Amino acid sequence: MQHPNTASPSGNAVSADNRHQTGSDDTGVDAGHNQNHHRGKAERDEWLFAPDLPIGNNPLFEWPLNARRILTYYRDYWLTVSEVSIFFVLAVAGWFALRGVLEGAAVLSAGWVLAVWALNLAVVLVFAGGFHLFFYQLRAQGTDLKYVPQFGHRGGSRFTFGSQVRDNMFWSLASGVSVWTGYLVFLLWAHAQGWTPAITVTAQPVTFIVVALFTGPWIAFHFYWGHRFLHVGPLYRHVHSLHHRNVNIGPWSGISMHPIEHVIYFSSMLIHLVVPSHPVLIMFHGYMLSLSAIFGHTGFHEMMIGNRARVAVGHFHHQLHHRYFECNYGSVDFPLDVWFGTFHDGTPEARRRLKSRLGPRWQR
Ligand SMILES: [Zn+2]
Ligand SMILES: [Zn+2]
Repeated sequence: MQHPNTASPSGNAVSADNRHQTGSDDTGVDAGHNQNHHRGKAERDEWLFAPDLPIGNNPLFEWPLNARRILTYYRDYWLTVSEVSIFFVLAVAGWFALRGVLEGAAVLSAGWVLAVWALNLAVVLVFAGGFHLFFYQLRAQGTDLKYVPQFGHRGGSRFTFGSQVRDNMFWSLASGVSVWTGYLVFLLWAHAQGWTPAITVTAQPVTFIVVALFTGPWIAFHFYWGHRFLHVGPLYRHVHSLHHRNVNIGPWSGISMHPIEHVIYFSSMLIHLVVPSHPVLIMFHGYMLSLSAIFGHTGFHEMMIGNRARVAVGHFHHQLHHRYFECNYGSVDFPLDVWFGTFHDGTPEARRRLKSRLGPRWQR
């Protein structure tokens, strides 16, 4: 779950010291063709690129409320080419594309279920496949705006099918798309049955907008609790470790999870059983889970199109989680990490706090 206040284009490129990078036993270190050797602040030396620090959180949850900051946050979130605006347009387009087959959604039939599954599969292939091709195969951006110098993991002893990309594609497509489609089909079917509180855009436009606006914070709230739970003992070892095989993440790592984690992760969509909803909002919620994770695991802060246009893609907040593991369980959209003392804002002070919190468990 990306937010533009973590995505400032003014972040500095820094040296590739990488002394804190874990998993280096099988990493494919690539110096990149466009390395910036400028040495910035010492605290940033652990990243090839870091955004302006500290990372901020959604100002909606800060007291006293600052109307200007909140409006800026939501303007940047919704009224720019950002992942959230892309997903919303996609949800509207997807609903129009499926509208014909969804007219029969009150009866579960292979036709419309397969159409929903095929659309989900297609968007994951387009976004994860497209980012992988652009950033990792063509190396179209070199290491510009890349958090770490590595381009994934070489060697495959820890991965299914012996390779990170094949492993990540398998768990994303076979399990991720299936579980997501399962929830979506169930909710669209329940909606067609009249079991969910349905709204229309014309009759309840304000409700529609409010539900859309609060989708991100709700996902952040739900993700935090599910994710903290997944870091407990056996659940971590048997379930969540599959996702954390990826220390050097890539777009295909986003929804590369164990099926049990998929069931937990996508269950945030069930809120549409009680919250006033429209099929567009349900589909948007699904994209905010699946595609946002793909954007957030690209490992690049922004995608550069030509020399000027940039689209925020990476989630530095979550990149910190993949490096330090026991921090940043949620996202910047709902500050539970701040409230429960698990927030790492990217600064050396936060790193020291984490080190003292972990005590002997600190391994770096
Ligand atoms: Zn992750
Ligand atoms: Zn985790």
